[in-house]
Amino acid sequence: MHEFHYSGQDLYCEQALIKSLVQKYGTPLYVYSQKTLTNHYKKLDEALAPLDHMVCFAMKANSNLSVIRVLANLGSGFDVVSAGELQRVIVAGGDARRCVFAGVGKTEEEIAFALQRGIYSFNVESEPELARINRVAARLKKIAPVAVRVNPNVAAGTHAKITTGTYENKFGIAFEAIEAVYARAARLKHIRLQGLQMHIGSQLTEVNPFEAAIRKVMPLVQKLKARHGLEFFSIGGGLGIVYKSALASGSPAWWKSKAAQKILTPSSYARRLTPLLKPLGLKILIEPGRFIVGNAGILVTRVEYVKRTGRKNFVIVDAAMNDLIRPAFYDAYHEVVPLRKKGGALISSDVVGGICESGDYFCKDRPLPKVGEGDHLALLSSGAYGFVMASNYNSRPLAAEVLVHGKKSDAARKRQEVEKIWEDEKIVSWLK
Ligand SMILES: *Cc1c(COP(=O)(O)O)cnc(C)c1O
Repeated sequence: MHEFHYSGQDLYCEQALIKSLVQKYGTPLYVYSQKTLTNHYKKLDEALAPLDHMVCFAMKANSNLSVIRVLANLGSGFDVVSAGELQRVIVAGGDARRCVFAGVGKTEEEIAFALQRGIYSFNVESEPELARINRVAARLKKIAPVAVRVNPNVAAGTHAKITTGTYENKFGIAFEAIEAVYARAARLKHIRLQGLQMHIGSQLTEVNPFEAAIRKVMPLVQKLKARHGLEFFSIGGGLGIVYKSALASGSPAWWKSKAAQKILTPSSYARRLTPLLKPLGLKILIEPGRFIVGNAGILVTRVEYVKRTGRKNFVIVDAAMNDLIRPAFYDAYHEVVPLRKKGGALISSDVVGGICESGDYFCKDRPLPKVGEGDHLALLSSGAYGFVMASNYNSRPLAAEVLVHGKKSDAARKRQEVEKIWEDEKIVSWLK
C-alpha cells in the first residue's frame, strides 16, 4: 500500500531513515515515496488494462515538479485546473496533449494558452464557458476539443466539502439539460465535441456511488456518441484511500486495535466498472488525485513544547495549519506516529500548531506515546491536498519537500527563505 514502515525502532521511507532526512532538510518536511507513487499509478493503470483508457493524474492534489516527472515518465496524463498547472506539466516534461483542463472559472487567457499548447480536452462546466471557448478558438483559428461535465445528481456519501455530483454543487451541467447543450454546442464552429465528463466527489470508499453514476449516465453517453461522434468518457477521480491505521506493517499493537478503514482497491473498482464501460466502445479517462499521492507522502514535524492544562495534553509542533490544512478544513483524520517508536502508556493528546487559530490542530484527544521537546512526529497520508494548500499565513515559510527513491533522497523543493514571503510587496510611494 505504501513504503513508510518501521525497521527496528525507526520510521523509514523506502530504505531512507527519516530521521536523517530531518537532519539534512529540517522540519516541517514533506517526504514522498517514489515507489509508492509508481505502484499506485501502475496498479490503477493495470486494473484498467481491459479498456482503452488514459489515467490523468489530478495534479491539484500534488503538483510538485518531481512528482509530476515521476508520473509523466510512467506515461500518465494530467487533469489540470489552471494555466499554472498546465505550465507545471510542461516544465516537468509532461505532454500537454495528454492533459484535460477542468474547473468552473477558466479565463480567456487560460483558454488561449491551453489551445496553443494543444491540450486533449477542455472539461466544460457551463454554457457561457462553451461560448467563450468557441470565441477564443475562433480568434486563434483553432478547433477546441471539449467535453461537457455532466452533474449526475447522485450522492457520493462523503464529506460535504468534497461532494461535487449533486445539484447543491457549482460543478457541471444538470443531467437533464445535457442533450440540449450538446445540440447547441454542435452548432458552434470552433468546438469539437470530443467527450463527456463527470466527477461525483472525493475520498469515496465504496464502488456503489461510482457504479450508480455510470449506470445513470450510460444511456446518455450512448446517445451523444451516436449523435456527435464522441471519442471519450471521463469518469472522474475520487477513489478514496485509507487514513486510519494507515501504517500496515510493523505497527505497534495499539494501531492494530483500531478497526482498519475499508479499502477501495483498483481491482475491485475496475472489476465492477469495466463490464459497464467496455461496451461503450469509447476511450475511458480517469482522473485520480488522492489515490495516487495520498499515501505516498507524510509531513514530519518537530515537537516544540508539551503543555499540560487542567484537562488537556497539548503537543505543540513546528508544523501548523498553513502546512497541512486538511484537519481544519475538512475535519480530516491523519494518523500521527513518532519517528522513533516509544514504549510506555499512551496519553490522550491534542497535536497542535503554533498559529493563532483554534482550528490549528492536527488531532484531538488522540492516544499517543509520551513525547517531549525535540522528538519528531509524522502525519501520515499527507501526500494529497497537503503541500499544495500550504500558505504563508502568520508569515511562516513554506515547508521543504523531499522525494525518496530507495536509499536516495533529494530536495524536490527547498525550504522557502523567509524574505521570499514579502519579496513582491513594497512600501507604497506616498509612505516612502
Ligand atoms: C479534484 C478532482 C479530481 C481528483 O479528485 P481525487 O479525489 O483527488 O481523486 C478529479 N477530477 C476533478 C474534476 C476534480 O475536481
